[in-house]
Amino acid sequence: MRKLASIRRIAEIKPIEGADAIEAVRVDGWWCVSKKNQFKVNDMCVYFEVDSFLPVRPEFEFLRKACFKSTRHLGDGFRLKTIRLKGQISQGLVLPLKDFLSLEGCEEPYVGYDMSDALGVKKWEVPLSPQLAGVAKGNFPSFIRKTDQERIQNCYSDLVETHKDAMFEATLKLDGSSMTVYFNDGQFGVCSRNLELKETEDNTFWKVARKLNLEAAMRSYGKNIALQGELMGPGIQGNREGLPDHDFYLFDVWNIDQMQYMSPMETDDVCSDLEDLGAKMSKVPFLGVDVPLSLSLEQLIAASEIKSLNHDVAEGIVYRSMDGTVSFKVINNKFLLQEK
Ligand code: AMP
Ligand code: MN
Repeated sequence: MRKLASIRRIAEIKPIEGADAIEAVRVDGWWCVSKKNQFKVNDMCVYFEVDSFLPVRPEFEFLRKACFKSTRHLGDGFRLKTIRLKGQISQGLVLPLKDFLSLEGCEEPYVGYDMSDALGVKKWEVPLSPQLAGVAKGNFPSFIRKTDQERIQNCYSDLVETHKDAMFEATLKLDGSSMTVYFNDGQFGVCSRNLELKETEDNTFWKVARKLNLEAAMRSYGKNIALQGELMGPGIQGNREGLPDHDFYLFDVWNIDQMQYMSPMETDDVCSDLEDLGAKMSKVPFLGVDVPLSLSLEQLIAASEIKSLNHDVAEGIVYRSMDGTVSFKVINNKFLLQEK
């Protein structure tokens, strides 16, 4: 599970040219802008990742002008995104730990402590249009893992130790909406990122599942699996790729009986078996096989500045180890700086 708000240590501090009131501080792989002299190297702090949606609390009121959002699906709060201040990229928010020590459930702070629940920090998600949101049938099935990817800035130092020479499959990260389609003990279902959806005429997830003939193919395949991919097309995240129609781009197959992801090669086999059974399958664009952790973090991030399908600025790259056990995302900073 990803920790949106957690206790960390300040790893490095550097001045920002032409700025007297602020400086850049580094926490793991993240650089953030902070008030000058607020921290010393090695101080404990609370770090809030980009994509956090912070609750309305006095500690965050200074963000109101830049970050306040009022939404139907998440309520009111402050959305953190990547910004540039005086030329310095700033990703997330770093605040002194002492500001939060009075919080219940945090009597003994240690590095790594997850503060997201104690603080009520949620992951920012764009509201879905009515066609996408559909009608909920229930919660996301407990026998499938929700789609998510850890950011390389959080896991680089750990992965370098364990996977320096390991081969990974690189795929293009598509900016759509997460979709899961499953078959389990005779039951077929379609889910958005967080919910299982009722089959209706006009729900986009179900429309695409029908168009690709997934139910019939998965029933004759007969294995308990979930297909996970990105739903793309008109009305989704501004349809940056300008696709004429909705489509599903598969990136993972979850083995329900074994409760684990399949490897990239097993995933390919499932796709061609389903095609033989009449399904129409597309996968996220394959970029190659790589040894990404032989690069420095800076090199890896620079390598994510690539073109997308039909756009000059891709969202980024997702890397999956060839045994299917480890994966992470590298987001293109050019994309993050463009986000609204
Ligand atoms: P984020 O969009 O930042 O929440 O990153 C994780 C999400 O990226 C996953 O939940 C997927 O919905 C989506 N995604 C898009 N393209 C890919 C890909 N090639 N591999 C894995 N996940 C992807
Ligand atoms: Mn996304």
